[in-house]
Amino acid sequence: MKDKFKIGIDYGGTKIEAILMNDKGDEIKRERSEYDRNYESGISTVKKFVEVFKKESSKEATVGIAIPGYSSKETGLVHNANSIWLNNKHFKKDLEKNLNCEIKIMNDANCFTLSEAIDGAGKDFKSVFGIIIGTGFGSGLSYKKEIIEGANQVAGDWGHQPLPYPTQEEINSKIKCTLPTCGRPLCAEQFISGAGFAKNFNLKHNTNFKAPEIVALDKKGDPKANKEFELYEDRFARLIAVMIGIFDPEAIILGGGMSNTERLYKNLPNIIPKYTFTDKVRTKILKNKHGDSSGVRGAAWLWD
Ligand SMILES: [Zn+2]
Repeated sequence: MKDKFKIGIDYGGTKIEAILMNDKGDEIKRERSEYDRNYESGISTVKKFVEVFKKESSKEATVGIAIPGYSSKETGLVHNANSIWLNNKHFKKDLEKNLNCEIKIMNDANCFTLSEAIDGAGKDFKSVFGIIIGTGFGSGLSYKKEIIEGANQVAGDWGHQPLPYPTQEEINSKIKCTLPTCGRPLCAEQFISGAGFAKNFNLKHNTNFKAPEIVALDKKGDPKANKEFELYEDRFARLIAVMIGIFDPEAIILGGGMSNTERLYKNLPNIIPKYTFTDKVRTKILKNKHGDSSGVRGAAWLWD
């Protein structure tokens, strides 16, 4: 039987990555390129990758694309993208016109979750919750290897909800979201994303560290970094407990820069039961298998 080919595209804020895969999930080719941060440059970069990959595989190769935010099923317009030039554009329609084929399009955290659920760290579980903790904080949910997108296409996306059970210290911090589309006091992303974590630490100690530098300090036993991580883990556990109360997945899979912090996998399972309505929590907290590749792989798997 002839191989069926899949093209996956991950549309990032500064880079666009593309993968060519066969239907067994073997990676045949991968390319990545920066683009000018505007709408037209994004479209022409995607087009270039798709044309090259189709020439090297088959005209019938399917195309899936991961984007920040989501493409509304109702209007066809993009919403909630932090690559703001995508917002309120008919991105799917414009791309299809340029590529002369049908495409599938999905939120990038959902693509991460799908990739890990199909043949990544979540492959042995029926229900999977994927979380990306990088500059932002996004997530998605999958059941039986399919994404549950939800009636409003934001299922699982609880990164911009307020921190549950806030402490007096957190309330006093008056931290609120910097995104104009959110702006909420105690927005979780401001505490849990790598950027938010570093900002909290720096504000308190008048420093200018990036998240990986604070991770390194913590490993060396720095008491300030140790304390910040204890706070971080407690906040994260509270958020996860609320999500478990609704979706109760078998596995939670972490991706993005902060997912390389090994202590999370050891400590979170011990803290989460403090906040759940069950004394024993069986949910596995796992590190991703495909790393940064899960965006493109999940996009390719949109056609299955
Ligand atoms: Zn927010």
